[in-house]
Amino acid sequence: MSTYILWDIDGTLIYNTPTAGALYLEAIEHVTGTRPTVPVPDPHGMTEGQLLAAILEVNELDAGRLGDVLYQLDELSREQHERGWARDACLGAADAIAAIASRGWTNALLTGNGPNRARYKLLAAGYDPEDFDWEHSYFGHQSPTRHHLTAGARSALSDHDAVIIGDTPNDGLAADSAGIPFIAVATGIYSADQLRATSALVVADDLSSGLGSILEAISASINDSTEESGNL
Ligand SMILES: [Mg+2]
Repeated sequence: MSTYILWDIDGTLIYNTPTAGALYLEAIEHVTGTRPTVPVPDPHGMTEGQLLAAILEVNELDAGRLGDVLYQLDELSREQHERGWARDACLGAADAIAAIASRGWTNALLTGNGPNRARYKLLAAGYDPEDFDWEHSYFGHQSPTRHHLTAGARSALSDHDAVIIGDTPNDGLAADSAGIPFIAVATGIYSADQLRATSALVVADDLSSGLGSILEAISASINDSTEESGNL
């Protein structure tokens, strides 16, 4: 049995930027010929597939073009990468990844992005993509909801322990629905107070000051699940 730490990317490993959605608009404009102008309310924590479908819908564009938009998004992400795109890694994230690996746990991804875009984002923020187990990572670009994404991860990892680390209440709800323990970091748009309303085992201000309590919470959740299976 292995322990997989499933990392969200935006707001958790990489700081959000106000222009993050520009590439979505560009991809949709390229495919449909119309640049969306109506914003989607509360997009944080949505999967990419969910958000793109919502943008198409609220702007009365052809939802049937979602696959083409996702393809175009990959193309634009690659071009952006080749132009030397840079993002900022969240405080303490690199050390947290190293600390998790040193305990014999496996770093992996659970993100609303597709795999290509996830890889470009990690590279843009100075991460080594090979520090993550891509065979046991889960991508939501084609998931209609984050619940769908976490349910897929849970069934794929049914013989293993898993913990999700994310930055939105939606990450917590999706973790809950799949029965995966959740740890929250307040490096996205939600405050620690807002995240304390979730089921999070720990709410950390960031991955630096919170690292000790995060590692303790992961250890405790693994021991809990071992005891539970011992009681069967
Ligand atoms: Mg996030």
